[in-house]
Amino acid sequence: MESRISRRGLLRASAAGLAAGAVPGLVARAAASESGAASAQANAGAVAVASANGIEAVRIAVELATDKKMRPVSAAVRGVAVVEADPNDMSVGYGGLPNELGVVQLDSSCMDGPTHNAGSVASIEDIMHPAQVAELVMDQTDHVNLVGPGARQFAIDHGFPVEDLLTDRARKVWLKWRSTRTGDDRLWPLNDTNPVDPVLQGEARPWGTIHCSVLAPNGDLGCCTTTSGLAFKIPGRIGDSPLVGCGMYCDNEVGSAGATGRGEAAILSGGSWLIVERMRNGDTPTEACLYALRRVAAQAERGSRWQPALWKDGRPNFGLTFYAVRKDGLYGSANMRGGGRFAVCDSKGPRREACAALYE
Ligand code: ASP
Repeated sequence: MESRISRRGLLRASAAGLAAGAVPGLVARAAASESGAASAQANAGAVAVASANGIEAVRIAVELATDKKMRPVSAAVRGVAVVEADPNDMSVGYGGLPNELGVVQLDSSCMDGPTHNAGSVASIEDIMHPAQVAELVMDQTDHVNLVGPGARQFAIDHGFPVEDLLTDRARKVWLKWRSTRTGDDRLWPLNDTNPVDPVLQGEARPWGTIHCSVLAPNGDLGCCTTTSGLAFKIPGRIGDSPLVGCGMYCDNEVGSAGATGRGEAAILSGGSWLIVERMRNGDTPTEACLYALRRVAAQAERGSRWQPALWKDGRPNFGLTFYAVRKDGLYGSANMRGGGRFAVCDSKGPRREACAALYE
C-alpha cells in the first residue's frame, strides 16, 4: 500500500507553494482550492475530473471504477469514448475539425498509475477511438508512442474499423476557414477575430480536447487525454495531448493531472508533470494548477521576445486549463483567462464547477 500524504505536510508545503513563482500583476485566485474537501476527508469512493465537455465521461468513469472495479486508466478511456464518438464535439474524435488539408488527425495518450506505464498515438487518421488505441499501445507493446500510419496500422491490426471521421459540419467549417484565409498564418495560428461558426465561439483556430483523470476507491490513479488538436493545423502537427508529462501525467503515489488549451504551452512547461510534482510537495490540486500556469505565463513573456503575439495586455494571449486530482481525493482545476468550468464526479454525482483563474 502506498504511503498517503500527511495533512500537516500538505498544509506546510501548500503555504510555501503559494508564495513561490508569482508573476507581478497577475490575480491568482485560489478560491476553488478547497474543492473536494469532503471527498478528501472521506476518501470513500472514486473521483473523476475532466474538461467541461466531460460531464458524461466523469459519470461513466466513476461508475466503472466503482461498480465494475475497472482500473482507473481504463475507466477514463471508456469515459472519453462517448465524446470521441460524438459528432457534435468538434474538438475530439468523430466530428473533430480537420487539419489544413481537410484531414482529421487525432492525438491521444493514457497513463496507468499502478504500473507507471503509458501509451499514446499521434496524428492517427480514420480511427474513431484513439484513446483505446493508446491503451493498447500501453498494454500490448513495449513502447509509449506510435505516430501516423504506424499508429493507424496498429489499430487496424487490433480490429479497429477504418471510418471517415470528417462530418459534413466539420467539412463546412473547414471550407469556410479555407475560403476566408488571407495568407500563411503558420507562425501564429491563434487568431480570434475571424468567426467561422457560432458554436466555435468566434475562434478562427479553435482548440478543444477532453482530459479525464480518475482516482479509484482503492487509491489507484489513471488518466487519459484525447483530441483532434488545433483546428486546421499543419498536417503532422502534434500537440500536448499525446505527450506524457504534457497533456496528461499521473503518479500512483501522488495524483493525476491533464491539460487542454494551447498545447505548445503545455509542452514547453511540461505542465502535467509539473502539477503532479507540485502535489507531491504538498500543493492542493488547485494550487498546483495555478503554479503551473504562473510558470507558463513567465515562459510566454519570455517567448514574446521572438513572437510578440504570445503576450498581450500584460498577460499570455492564449487559453490553457489544467485539471488535477490528488491521491487523497482532493481535486481542482485552473485556467489562464478565467471564467472556465470543469467536470467532476464523486459520490455527489456529476457536475460542473468553476475553475480557479490566474488572470481575471
Ligand atoms: N491541447 C490541444 C492541442 O494542442 C488542443 C486543445 O486542448 O484545445 O492539440
